[in-house]
Amino acid sequence: MQRNEADGIIISCDFCGTDWDGQAAMVEGHHGSVICLDCVKKALKAAMVGEDKYKCTLCLRHNIPASLPRWINVLRPEAVICQECLHQAAKALSKAPHAEWKWQGGTE
Ligand SMILES: [Zn+2]
Ligand SMILES: [Zn+2]
Repeated sequence: MQRNEADGIIISCDFCGTDWDGQAAMVEGHHGSVICLDCVKKALKAAMVGEDKYKCTLCLRHNIPASLPRWINVLRPEAVICQECLHQAAKALSKAPHAEWKWQGGTE
């Protein structure tokens, strides 16, 4: 997400609230939504099937079937990422030169 402060626009991860330092590997979704590498790693391990349809913070799709795994950080339950966005983000971060991380295609 983005917010305006005296020295300009601050970008921070929607899922953990960490401010972007201009260097860290992060992936942008729609409407300025952002997920950081740490959250992607956690989400790959912990994404799970829920009980209700949901809306994804990154792709903004509504009515995503409960059977598509999602991840929510308990600290910021208002942000939700669907598995499709998660896998896209993991692929993008695997190619980011400064991420120094490669997604193996599973939960790591
Ligand atoms: Zn984060
Ligand atoms: Zn999504």
